[in-house]
Amino acid sequence: MQNPVERVLEAVPFCFGEVLVRKSGKSLLLCHRDEDAQDDLEMFQNPEDAIEIAKYDDAGNYRPLKTAPNLRHGWRMKLQSSAELKHALGHFYPGRLAVFFAWQRGELRTTSLRETLDRQSGMYRIAATISDAQIDDLVAGFCHSNGGCLRTILWKRDQHGTIASTKLPIQKFDPTLDQVQALGRTGSATGTTVPLLCQESCNLLVAACRKVVKGE
Ligand code: SF4
Repeated sequence: MQNPVERVLEAVPFCFGEVLVRKSGKSLLLCHRDEDAQDDLEMFQNPEDAIEIAKYDDAGNYRPLKTAPNLRHGWRMKLQSSAELKHALGHFYPGRLAVFFAWQRGELRTTSLRETLDRQSGMYRIAATISDAQIDDLVAGFCHSNGGCLRTILWKRDQHGTIASTKLPIQKFDPTLDQVQALGRTGSATGTTVPLLCQESCNLLVAACRKVVKGE
């Protein structure tokens, strides 16, 4: 009997962030969702190769945030099992599959931004003094799917359940929507998307909060 992970991973084709997964015979093919029609892509067969593919963008710049909408183009990966697929997707988007499965089971715990900021120590402690108005602007610019990050935000601003930013489109908080298509970039339209979920603000956003407070 298949476990829930296998069931989702075998429901191909689907998109996971900017990665398109589809079947070809008994193999699984992955590529950048913009390029399924391309036939001159560099081929890879090892799920570990996803680590290098995900490291730099098209211009060769390091990608500190793997869920930023700048996955490089020009590659195709051919895999032989759902276990290999799980490994590869884990390298493209670290931790996101586990979070998705926890969310599906109703077991995902989210942490508000204020809670995350309040537990910072050392040089990041000052980040907790950021104002609500500053959070509103910062999160809108930093997490926006168009150039910022493709995750769907599930966390709240504070323990009262305040929305993370009133300046983000409502689609940014809806796990049923494809954040890439929300950008107006269709790529391969598979109809199915496994969302990249954000259950807790990342270190990069915390660092950005600190910068705002310090006026940098
Ligand atoms: S806080 Fe979440 S949505 Fe915002 S940039 Fe970080 S990972 Fe992406």
